[in-house]
Amino acid sequence: MTTADVIIIGGGPSGVAAGLTLRKQGVPRVVLLEREAELGGATRHCAHSPFGMREFGRVYFGAAYGRRLARAAHKAGLDIRTGHAVTAVQPHGVVQVVSAQGLQTLQARRILVMTGARERSRAARLLPGDRPQGVITTGTLQASLAFHGLRPFRRPVILGTELVSFSALLTCLTHGIRPVAMIETAPAPLARWPLRLFPRLMGIPLLCGVEVSDILGTPNVNEVTVRKGGATRALACDGLLLTGRFTPESALFLQSDIGVEPATSGPAIDQYGRTHDPLIFAGGNILRAIETGGWAFREGRAVGAAVADDLRQSPETAPPVPVTFDAPLRLVVPSLLRRSTRPQRAFPSFQLRFDRAARGVLRLTLDGEEVWRKRGAWRPERRVLVPLPPQATQAEHVHFHFDERS
Ligand SMILES: Cc1cc2nc3c(=O)[nH]c(=O)nc-3n(C[C@H](O)[C@H](O)[C@H](O)COP(=O)(O)OP(=O)(O)OC[C@H]3O[C@@H](n4cnc5c(N)ncnc54)[C@H](O)[C@@H]3O)c2cc1C
Repeated sequence: MTTADVIIIGGGPSGVAAGLTLRKQGVPRVVLLEREAELGGATRHCAHSPFGMREFGRVYFGAAYGRRLARAAHKAGLDIRTGHAVTAVQPHGVVQVVSAQGLQTLQARRILVMTGARERSRAARLLPGDRPQGVITTGTLQASLAFHGLRPFRRPVILGTELVSFSALLTCLTHGIRPVAMIETAPAPLARWPLRLFPRLMGIPLLCGVEVSDILGTPNVNEVTVRKGGATRALACDGLLLTGRFTPESALFLQSDIGVEPATSGPAIDQYGRTHDPLIFAGGNILRAIETGGWAFREGRAVGAAVADDLRQSPETAPPVPVTFDAPLRLVVPSLLRRSTRPQRAFPSFQLRFDRAARGVLRLTLDGEEVWRKRGAWRPERRVLVPLPPQATQAEHVHFHFDERS
């Protein structure tokens, strides 16, 4: 009953890039399953640039970039099935799919799961207060504006200061929505300078180190109360925009024997993008929310190349070695290494993130021997890249140490 050589789940930048690479490397039967009506993933509702410079040599707005991905996917001869939601990934390369045609079981020699990430909802953030309309994520705001022409509010409070929070601010300003404030629980904005100057330049107050202590209003929001230390402050507004705090869209792994890692909430993968199941790979934002569209595209391409290589050989089944780390590191990707000499690694570097701001020395040891070190001031939510040494795949113990210095 084999349907395909490879089934890709998710038609965002990473899934499309993986498909293009597989076809370019001569893999004949590549099926791309996407639950939405169109390809493009999260980029489709971004009414702003920049997308696509490195992969297509020009800058696109999000929606146009999504269309560009779709054109490339059609031209490459991928078997594209939109309106197909995968409900389960199972051993032996089996996937269960629901579409207008009903339930289907498909099977492939390899499966790539590239289902992206989403912002945490109000419930997941445990925000107190009333339950009025108008408490939404950036993705929902952008989709309301782009697909339905609906403005859910005029004067929201923006919660968060990650890169996407500034995308949210820009979306608001370009649609006649004037945020009353941007607020952040951390002591300083999480996005890089000079982005953090943007609210100030726009005359929008930026309040850091504050918690949302109440949301008031029925049926719509009319006030968000914030607390800093013992003092509270009422912000009159008509909405609360929840930005960032992305989490991988990993329900398919949670429901399978593969599971997810507590550190990333995504699947554990090795240097090829392979999960604990030798036939199932993953890439893009499902690994560690969240990176840019270009990053997801490049990662999809790299995992696609590793899968094409894998199809020419027998799957790697050696038990993986876990990559471990000290606090305040929050995550490491890849978090598994398989003993292998295959050159087609999808991940030339470890990707690390810190949980909080910290100063000190970051070190990598292989079987107790130090192979890399760097001193620095490390910030949360910033990508840290550490080259993955070839000999790491032969080690029994791979550990990132952190020696904190004040
Ligand atoms: C609000 C917002 C603003 C952003 N702004 C920028 C920006 O300005 N510049 C930039 O470079 N990046 C930006 N990004 C990031 C960029 O959009 C993502 O990095 C990129 O889309 C991730 O690609 P991906 O393929 O990993 O996942 P996604 O793009 O999320 O694609 C995943 C796809 O999988 C599909 N899927 C999920 N589950 C299933 C299932 N069970 N069955 C079938 N299909 C499924 C989804 O429908 C989706 O199409 C932004 C993201 C957001 C959310």
